[in-house]
Amino acid sequence: MKAAVASLAALALMSACGPRQTAPAAPPVARHLVLITIDTLRADRVGAYGSTDVETPTLDRLAREGASADGSVQVPLTRPSHVTLFTGRYPAEHGIRDNVSPGLAADVPVLAEILQSRGFATAGFVSSIVLSRQSGLARGFDTYSDRFEIGEDDARFLNTIQRRGDLPTAEAVSWLGQQKEGKRHFAWLHLYDPHDPYEPPEPFASHYAGRPYDGEVAWSDTLVGRLDAVLAQTRLQKDTLLVVTSDHGEGLGEHEESVHGFFVYETTLHVPLIVRGPGVKPGHRLQVVARSVDVLPTVLELLGLTEAIPRVSGRSLAAAFRGESLRDEPTYAESLVPLIHYGWSDLRTLRLGRWKYILAPRPELYDVQSDPGELRNLAGVEAARARELRAGLEARLRDEQAAARGTPAPAVTLAPDLLEKLGSLGYVSGAGSAVGLAKGADPKDKIGEYRILNGLMREGLIGLREGRFEESLARFRAMAARGIDSFELNYYTARALMGARRWREAAARYEAAIRLLPAYGPAYLGLSDARVAGRDLAGALEAVTRGQRAAPSDVRLIEREGELCRRAGRPDAAALAYERMVKLAPRDALARVRLGELYRDMGRPREAARLLREAVQIDPAPASYWNSLGMVLGGEGDLAGAERAFREATSRDNANVEYTYNLGLAILRQQRAGEAALQFRRALEIDPTFRPARQRLAEARP
Ligand SMILES: [Zn+2]
Repeated sequence: MKAAVASLAALALMSACGPRQTAPAAPPVARHLVLITIDTLRADRVGAYGSTDVETPTLDRLAREGASADGSVQVPLTRPSHVTLFTGRYPAEHGIRDNVSPGLAADVPVLAEILQSRGFATAGFVSSIVLSRQSGLARGFDTYSDRFEIGEDDARFLNTIQRRGDLPTAEAVSWLGQQKEGKRHFAWLHLYDPHDPYEPPEPFASHYAGRPYDGEVAWSDTLVGRLDAVLAQTRLQKDTLLVVTSDHGEGLGEHEESVHGFFVYETTLHVPLIVRGPGVKPGHRLQVVARSVDVLPTVLELLGLTEAIPRVSGRSLAAAFRGESLRDEPTYAESLVPLIHYGWSDLRTLRLGRWKYILAPRPELYDVQSDPGELRNLAGVEAARARELRAGLEARLRDEQAAARGTPAPAVTLAPDLLEKLGSLGYVSGAGSAVGLAKGADPKDKIGEYRILNGLMREGLIGLREGRFEESLARFRAMAARGIDSFELNYYTARALMGARRWREAAARYEAAIRLLPAYGPAYLGLSDARVAGRDLAGALEAVTRGQRAAPSDVRLIEREGELCRRAGRPDAAALAYERMVKLAPRDALARVRLGELYRDMGRPREAARLLREAVQIDPAPASYWNSLGMVLGGEGDLAGAERAFREATSRDNANVEYTYNLGLAILRQQRAGEAALQFRRALEIDPTFRPARQRLAEARP
């Protein structure tokens, strides 16, 4: 990480150094922070940013009560963009460059952790699986709400697994309502609704018929309003810094891009940034561009925590939000999707003021002031400007390359051959001339192909989900025939082959996926599945132990090791694995349940009971945990304890015949035959063929 900071210096050198800003004496500071990220929110769909036909009364009001800026993201993809927002670092520095990547490294400081260490109560409420705790973004949050209902064999696009925004909003509202006045707090609410698919609820669906994206924006605006209303009610509003921004915009057909993540045009980079609270000048519109990397230092200064700002690549814009003028800094953004997923050229852009340069095999230069749609490429006309911006980008990329070489394990986030590809793009070729920089196909020429491939991938995944494996495989084969050899293509092909019961081929595909992205835990789980299905238990165990070396924080791999050891008749080895799992994930109730059940079967009931008690304390919701606890207690002769546990289980799931039967049995053994008979009768109502209940019922009759 040390070398990566050099790129900051390079950027700073490029902009003419303005006079150092000194903060005025003791400006007012906010006590609390509420940050809302509305995913996929294009600036020009918000009234305060010039929209005339989307109703965003809340955001417009917040922009009047506070200040607003032209936000600019550093990468138009959900996970890397959010990580940039929460670390103040560029993607090359924090290492998260794609939605499919291992979690953020534990040594990169994140906003929530910084605030938590200063005594803030912290809570995050997210709506996309891309931001689930596996992303590493949960670090520093006391509460992190990221529950998504997904089946084991779900094959949706990762980025379409979401929950509607009113759920996390209600959770955030409830959490804020519980905060005490004495303690500072930070809440983050992430709304995913404007992300595709666009399905706004009524009345927005009817009101915005034919333009559902706009309907999602209007709907999200009302959710922001709900959250702000609770701040007003609880009188927290005047002490709260409320920040609303986004992680990227949406193409909506411009430049032939329908969604986001492929190109680096302003349609997907330009987002709102609205800040209201103490120390912010009402109604002010910032003249400088506010980059995602600037948000963390800005927010910390506005909270009066300037000394807490870690080493970041952004700068604080607090002075600008107070109404002072600052000089523009260069704005950098990247898209690695064409390279990572398709093997084409990546895209990098640098913007300073009105001029924006895009480094591509055929470079582009736009005057975004007079040509906001980026329709007239001036690279040939304004050659000197193009050269200057290009030199800035080249310096940046040289630093990035040097940093990648200096980092001991760059493969943690990017596959080795991908790094090779990045290195072979020509940016750093010392001996080479300045021409022919970006290599590979120009994404501009590939947008049609991209749409075809995306269509094939979607159809392939739908086939996979609906169990039409041959159809799915045909789509994936068509993609491979078009030259695609990406991680996800191999991974999903492997899944389809599993469905078609072609274990050996599936294993080979999983291996290919692992070569492309070595630190992705689920690929090793898949490989172990394929080997178990092929009756190779030792090979399955090899896959999960290899996976643990590559993805040491993935507890599912350790869980699988325990399960495989159990199946292989090695309970002691299984216990060791589950013990590691409990240690690695102390707040994971399931880890304790697994170990507890194993101890029970190994004849260690006392330890089993302790673990299961801890499990239901951590997560009391699953009925099966209570049932396991009841079985251990009953086996130990603690019949009253067992009865209590089974009652908890049946109260959580009253349609499970076993839980009801177990409750009856615990009661019967306490010589309360009449009550027990009641439970056995209920069990038979649930399942009339459940024989044990019928037998016990006969016993329970006086
Ligand atoms: Zn997003």
